[in-house]
This record gives sequence, C-alpha cells and structure tokens, in this order.
Amino acid sequence: MREKARGEADQPFRILPRITPENEHFWTGGAEDELRFKRCRSCGYYIHPPAPRCPTCLSKELEVAAVSGRATVLTYTVNHQPWIPGFPTPYVVAIVEIEEQPGLRLMTNLVNCPIDAVRIGMPVRVRFEARDGVYLPLFEPVTG
Ligand SMILES: [Zn+2]
Repeated sequence: MREKARGEADQPFRILPRITPENEHFWTGGAEDELRFKRCRSCGYYIHPPAPRCPTCLSKELEVAAVSGRATVLTYTVNHQPWIPGFPTPYVVAIVEIEEQPGLRLMTNLVNCPIDAVRIGMPVRVRFEARDGVYLPLFEPVTG
C-alpha cells in the first residue's frame, strides 16, 4: 500500500473520482504538476470531459496535452451547508474557464483565498491536492 504524502492525513474527507483509462490523464497529471486534457490531433480542440472523438471535427486522433494551468473564475457559489461530514465550511465552489480555450471549463474549489475576495473574472491557477493517487485540480488566485 502506498504511503500517505506528508500532511495528507490531516486533510478533510473528500469524495474521490474513480480512475478509468479514459480519465486517468486528468486525475493523475498533478503528479507531474500538469493539468492535462484530451486534445484533438487534427484541429487542436481540448476535450473535457473525455470523449472517444473530437466534438468539433469528429476525428478519433486524440492525444493527451498539458495546459498552462491558468484560468479565470466564470462563476462561483459559497457553500455554508455541511453536506460532507468533516469537510469544513464555508468553501467556494467555482466554475473556471481554462485559458487555452473558451468553453473549456472545470467545476472546482477555490483555495488559498478569503471568501470575500472571490470575484467573477478573477485570474486563478491550478494547484493539486493529492489523495490516494488522485490529484484533484483546485484553483488559487494568481498573485503578483
Ligand atoms: Zn478536432
């Protein structure tokens, strides 16, 4: 069994995704600090969630490609309800748009940011939270 990363035992409970051959690139890219998506080799379109072919040109020639990890906050909500026992509230649930492609969006949590400071349009960047071999892409404000 894998040893827990330092500090991992102190992290609050999270529901983790099931890793499949189709989504492994996305959930494990954080091991190399990379946010990865399927990308069409023909037209360059990033595909998320993963699909067997490109929705724009229908090509089946897909590859896995890393993006910069930069994004902007498209919309967000502050959750105060303790839906998940042991997961501290309040927290920010956000939809972020990845810099490389309009419409390439992730639902995520914003971290390292006071809740009152969150704004639509705010520049953020990915930071991964490691859990049992899964690297959750969370986002934090870009500072400086
Ligand atoms: Zn394509």
